[in-house]
Amino acid sequence: MKWSLQKIEITVAAVVLVILLVWMGSAGVWSANGEIAEEEDKQVFREQIAVKMDVTKGLLGGTEKEYIYYTGLEGGAKKAPDEIVIAIDAGHGGADDGCVRRGVKEKEVNYKIAEKVQKKLMGLGYQVVMVRESDTFMTLTKRVKVARRAHADIYVSIHQNSSDITSARGVEAYYSGQNAKEDSKRLAELLHAQVLQETGANKRSIYEWEEFHVIRESVMPSCLIETGFLTNASERYRLSDDSYQEKIAEGIVSGIQQYFNPETE
Ligand SMILES: [Zn+2]
Repeated sequence: MKWSLQKIEITVAAVVLVILLVWMGSAGVWSANGEIAEEEDKQVFREQIAVKMDVTKGLLGGTEKEYIYYTGLEGGAKKAPDEIVIAIDAGHGGADDGCVRRGVKEKEVNYKIAEKVQKKLMGLGYQVVMVRESDTFMTLTKRVKVARRAHADIYVSIHQNSSDITSARGVEAYYSGQNAKEDSKRLAELLHAQVLQETGANKRSIYEWEEFHVIRESVMPSCLIETGFLTNASERYRLSDDSYQEKIAEGIVSGIQQYFNPETE
């Protein structure tokens, strides 16, 4: 191999660039969406940067990134309730009412249930992050970001269902096969079972479903629960009632407790 002065200069420049790129990677200068990463994101994302290069031509390829997510529960490590952060997401809000029937707005039912869940969980010593804190519009991306920033251990999204078939009623749960599948599925099964037990509502299915942004993108075990149908007259009446909302909240909370204490199931 014959080394010309020009080739040596290119080689030195390429090596310096690689060192710089590797340092930027390890320092977390890049984040998932290409923005400057914030301090707190470093724990969530690990990046691997591979630079393809040819000493005679300089850099050929760009960078490759690989994201590894931590939920804090890996290896089945036990945590005390006050170390567990639960993200509770009341669906819709602000200009987005969700489903509306006869003046009953989904966003309001979701929020009332979420508040009850929050109160009960805090009473048990859990840390709770209300993803939507008031009647405001929030994008799905923002919702996911709030939970991620809080390093939530699980994400629970609360919604009400609707159907053209007005006889449809009951409880459904959803999880994503792309996000912590096994834990998300277990969470969905527990919430579904416990809400049914507390309310005596009609048992509908649990779905592996990729169309819901918040459970697919939230990076921690996640479940979306549809606690009833606002399009069914008798269920709508029950869902508007404070004591029925209390039962739903109780079911969600006992499902969460079983999720974090599997030996007591
Ligand atoms: Zn909804």
